[in-house]
Amino acid sequence: MTIIDGKKIKDKILGEVKDKIEKKNLELKLAIILVGDNDASKIYVSNKEKACEYVGIKCDKYLLDSSTSQEDVINLIDKLNNDDEVTGIILQSPVPSHIDFDKCAGTIKYYKDVDGFTRDNIYNLYMNKEGLVPCTVKGIIRLLDEYKIEIEGKHVVIIGRGNIVGKPLIHAMMNRNATVTVCHSKTKNLEELCRTADILVSAVGRPNLITKEMIKEGAVVIDVGISRVDNKVVGDTSFDEIKDKCTFITPVPGGVGPMTVAMIMENLLTAEDLKNNG
Ligand code: NAD
Repeated sequence: MTIIDGKKIKDKILGEVKDKIEKKNLELKLAIILVGDNDASKIYVSNKEKACEYVGIKCDKYLLDSSTSQEDVINLIDKLNNDDEVTGIILQSPVPSHIDFDKCAGTIKYYKDVDGFTRDNIYNLYMNKEGLVPCTVKGIIRLLDEYKIEIEGKHVVIIGRGNIVGKPLIHAMMNRNATVTVCHSKTKNLEELCRTADILVSAVGRPNLITKEMIKEGAVVIDVGISRVDNKVVGDTSFDEIKDKCTFITPVPGGVGPMTVAMIMENLLTAEDLKNNG
């Protein structure tokens, strides 16, 4: 059994991005919009800032008061869309309830949408013309690639059909010729379906959802879930219970989590390419 080291791969990727930026003398800029005062969001934004600083990408933060109107958020995105110095734009989720996140994020120009959430980018993923792919999904694929875990022809069972992970992952896996099964809160025979997975990806956010009985001997398990239990961050799997049945498994924390930021940095390179050639 191999524990997939997301932190190590993240560091490697950040090093590669830094090298590319230095060699090509690129001047890239990420604009992050944060509306309101969410503590978790502040941590995520700070991680993105740190990664930008490390690889040599400028990072402008727009900290907007929680009472900011949706119109003002859209106006700011419009301004950033039209600013040639801005390579990528992130609207940090969640936003206050009077703001429609999808509507606002949907106004980001597709080639600046480094989170990969706009219609054009989702359509490209759907059409197997991947451009800016949602970062967690890109991170999962990259972890499998880095550990030379074959996807083609494998039965991939995805638990969770959320818009950020589960749904885009269905397409990313199909684009790589996997046979894909999707499970969710209304799935009747979750245990049985999971046992047929060569690669099991859980993106739910429910501690101990995945137990030993649900794992096929030799399976690869990718745990995307994040929950807090007794002030500790845990995933969806009963890690200690299942690890010996797996060939590869991601820990939480330290598996998929670190990859998301690394993939934003890679998406900024892709965004620059799309701007010039797309
Ligand atoms: P979501 O709420 O959009 O989706 C959760 C999904 O889980 C739903 O499709 C629901 O049907 C399914 N579900 C709920 N209970 C279930 C059950 N008992 N059995 C089977 N399926 C069940 O959430 P999301 O945004 O897709 O995020 C999912 C998890 O991944 C969360 O814990 C989130 O924190 C985590 N996450 C991690 C990263 C990372 O970088 N590691 C990034 C994004 C999300």
